[in-house]
Amino acid sequence: MGNDSAIVQAARVSYGKGTKQVNQDRGLIRYLMRHRHTSPFEMVQTKWHIKLPIFVMRQLVRHRTAAINEYSARYSVLSDEFYVPALEDVKPQSTNNKQGRGGDISEEDAEQVRQVIDMHNDSVYQLYQMLLGADSTMDFDGKGDLRLSDDFEGIARELARMVLPVNGYTECYWSINLHNLFHFIKLRADPHAQKEIRVFAEAMYQKCLEHWPMATEAFDDYVMGGAHFSRTEMDILRKVFKNEVIDDDMLEDFGLSKREIDEFRTKLA
Ligand SMILES: Cc1cc2nc3c(=O)[nH]c(=O)nc-3n(C[C@H](O)[C@H](O)[C@H](O)COP(=O)(O)OP(=O)(O)OC[C@H]3O[C@@H](n4cnc5c(N)ncnc54)[C@H](O)[C@@H]3O)c2cc1C
Repeated sequence: MGNDSAIVQAARVSYGKGTKQVNQDRGLIRYLMRHRHTSPFEMVQTKWHIKLPIFVMRQLVRHRTAAINEYSARYSVLSDEFYVPALEDVKPQSTNNKQGRGGDISEEDAEQVRQVIDMHNDSVYQLYQMLLGADSTMDFDGKGDLRLSDDFEGIARELARMVLPVNGYTECYWSINLHNLFHFIKLRADPHAQKEIRVFAEAMYQKCLEHWPMATEAFDDYVMGGAHFSRTEMDILRKVFKNEVIDDDMLEDFGLSKREIDEFRTKLA
């Protein structure tokens, strides 16, 4: 709801005028983004219909500035759709990032992992249906000791769902203003974010380019592609700008830890 003009219109409210020329609009939007004059971007409201695995939904809901309405698994039966990572996304635990994946495993093992997840999805969904009363013939322990009676008509959907894994799909409507959406995209399209939420953030970014080309261009330039520097990093950059040569020892003399030096280098690279 609202295009680039809604942002410009809000920013120009003091003049009591609508939009001016397109190039002036672009300049104004870039000025607003550059100087973090954020409220005009809040004039644009966005609404998304998203289908996503539950473990990704758990990351989405952390963004408190959005309004959400989610599919009710108390009211309706959940579908048998489960997320299984693509072959190239099945990776071992990263050794240098506790919160991520890295390195490689063999293609054969990756395929086995996918198949095991598939099998688990099938069997757990069968259990769910059994708990709902759709199938009372399931033999849990293979010996016939753990069976439900022929009279069993199922337990409530709100209880049966608890056996389902977090790679099951859910759906929601998600509404957020453009300022907060950009904040979400900045955090979740970042390489540090999990791949499975990154694909959603990147898809939203593409939609933003379509609907708010000027605002998104400014966001891309100043926020997505920009970086923040600490006071110390700025002191170092000023010296570099004056053609002073800075080596690793000198960086430590500025009081930066090894990790900070690495992150500073990564930022500049
Ligand atoms: C790569 C990555 C890893 C993460 N790892 C973890 C993790 O291990 N564990 C975990 O629990 N979370 C984790 N998070 C979630 C993270 O801590 C934030 O909760 C999430 O990214 C939402 O960010 P936000 O609060 O800025 O966004 P929003 O909730 O959309 O809020 C936007 C802005 O509004 C303001 N705001 C909103 N509500 C409040 C409030 N109550 N008080 C003060 N200011 C507020 C803040 O300025 C905030 O930046 C991770 C996030 C990322 C991107």
